[in-house]
Amino acid sequence: MAQDPWLLTPGPLTTSLSVKQSMLHDWGSRDSEFIRINGEMRSRLVQLIHGEGSFTTVPMQGSGTFAVEAMLATFVRPKDKLLILINGAYGKRMAKICDYAKRAYSVLEWAEDQPVNPQQVADALAKDKAITHVAVVHCETTSGVLNPIVEVGAVVAQAGRRLLIDSMSAFGALPVDSREIAFDAVAASSNKCIEGVPGLGFVLCREAALKECKGNAHALVLDLYDQWQVIEKTQQYRFTPPIHCIVAFNQALTEHAQEGGVSGRGGRYRANCKILIDGMRTLGFETLLPDHLQAPIIVTFHMPADPKFDFQRFYDKLRDRNYVIYPGKLTVADSFRIGCIGRLSDTEMKGAIAAVKAVLAEMGVKSGAPRKLAASAE
Ligand SMILES: *Cc1c(COP(=O)(O)O)cnc(C)c1O
Repeated sequence: MAQDPWLLTPGPLTTSLSVKQSMLHDWGSRDSEFIRINGEMRSRLVQLIHGEGSFTTVPMQGSGTFAVEAMLATFVRPKDKLLILINGAYGKRMAKICDYAKRAYSVLEWAEDQPVNPQQVADALAKDKAITHVAVVHCETTSGVLNPIVEVGAVVAQAGRRLLIDSMSAFGALPVDSREIAFDAVAASSNKCIEGVPGLGFVLCREAALKECKGNAHALVLDLYDQWQVIEKTQQYRFTPPIHCIVAFNQALTEHAQEGGVSGRGGRYRANCKILIDGMRTLGFETLLPDHLQAPIIVTFHMPADPKFDFQRFYDKLRDRNYVIYPGKLTVADSFRIGCIGRLSDTEMKGAIAAVKAVLAEMGVKSGAPRKLAASAE
């Protein structure tokens, strides 16, 4: 079988052969083996945040956004108010979710190349007593910027408010430790740093908080409280579960543990990220973010200034060489993105750099250097 293209994207990602092979069966939703696997998957996820005894995994059929929407709708009551910290598209999406769910909210916004600022969060919480919850994105995949969730957690706890985290693109590679950060819920999905296939979101919920959430959700399918109650009582999902995806996800969790858990997975991604950034800089490209703000997940590069550079041709030619990159999503700069997560090692990352070099030569582009901008005002 020909090698599938390497996905240098924020997800879905390249998965291992063993993860793909784990799906070559049929299971009924009442199958005892599936029920065992589902239970194992739920408890392994709780272990990843060191939440044994106080947290529970509530799986949610669908992509990651289904889990984020379910989290906001279940935890934020109609009479509550959410403060959303925005420095990219995923923060903005949470505001849109609140519009649909008719939840009161306010926002704090930063530029896409800036992390959220905990001191400004503290000030906003001091000013507006109506705010009950704060929502933050862990790694803003729009740019790849890492947000300081430990520090944000500290100011939210200090102010006596509740924290909800979208850790979608970081979960499994960067720590989210429930002993270190006080949060009510964190949402992620099967097809990012755990390296499963798409189809399942999940929300790790503090049980004491989830217990108070009966009747909050505006949509039956997104009601985490009801989903939790039914799975606990019957071991069954309320509606058809994505069984193959869950079985593959549990296999991916086995492989995640074999690699050394969060630190092992994060270590490989950091090594991938370094090869990517060093290699691209050698070719003249510049990253949007300084290294200290960069999460080892996905890297945003400025578009080269050379008039011979054409992004669509660049993309297509890399695709012909079996590397799939990702367009930009920024409003602050013309850019594209290359991910370093998924079942990729130094071999694939070096291969990607060699392919970029060859494609630039084919296009007659001498350097990846961007147009020199006037130093941006701080
Ligand atoms: C990928 C991602 C999501 C969810 O996206 P889906 O396309 O619904 O899976 C949410 N938040 C962040 C930060 C993400 O990276």
